[in-house]
Amino acid sequence: MKGYIHSIETLGALDGPGLRVVVFFQGCPMRCKYCQNPDTWALKDGILTDTNTLIKKIENYKPYFGVKGGITVSGGEPFMQAEFLLDLLKNLKKRKIKTVVDTCGYYLSSTVKKCIEYMDFVLLDIKHTVNTEHKKLTGKSLTNVLKFLNYCCSQRKKLWIRQVIIPGINDTKKDMQQLACLVKDCKSIQKIELLPYHLMGKWKWKKLGKKYLLQKKKGPTPEKIRKLKIYLSRQLKCADEI
Ligand code: SF4
Repeated sequence: MKGYIHSIETLGALDGPGLRVVVFFQGCPMRCKYCQNPDTWALKDGILTDTNTLIKKIENYKPYFGVKGGITVSGGEPFMQAEFLLDLLKNLKKRKIKTVVDTCGYYLSSTVKKCIEYMDFVLLDIKHTVNTEHKKLTGKSLTNVLKFLNYCCSQRKKLWIRQVIIPGINDTKKDMQQLACLVKDCKSIQKIELLPYHLMGKWKWKKLGKKYLLQKKKGPTPEKIRKLKIYLSRQLKCADEI
């Protein structure tokens, strides 16, 4: 099956357990103000490839995966090409290669549900916990993201939740209370990561002729992130998992 990808990064250690090959799919329905990869937004701007070509490339790295590692499909938003993703996941499963999908949780079609069945776990980015603010930050409402989260929880799918912390946007105790409130009943969440906002993708906006609207924002200090993690842990009453 054919689909569009942006790029492949080999042997990263940040997007899931162990050493991983990260395949960045092209296309995204959101328009996050801090997006590091605005060059993934338009589907047809990507590289047209097919499942077999991807599998061949991925298999070269199989010896490095060990027990925990494998493939992370990121983007862009991988579920925008759900049929292509499903074909890739099925083929990787046959080869006993572990898979993680990094998603903004916007889509939940029957094909997306099948993809969830075939992947080992999900990295879900919850950008903001208040609908109006989510919409301001990403251009899309939070409703779909919550439906996606609830579906994964109902299927007991293993999840890591991630939130990029942006000073003045989602860095208060109240924000952490709201995040805890959304996730606390989901028993399949294994980890919650609070990631500091940074400006590393800014140059891409300039290159694409787009205006970077968070120009004046700076990233939070490590101390701030540490305090928010402690506060969130207390809200969840499961400090060991954060
Ligand atoms: S969901 Fe990810 S790829 Fe899409 S706009 Fe937001 S940060 Fe960028």
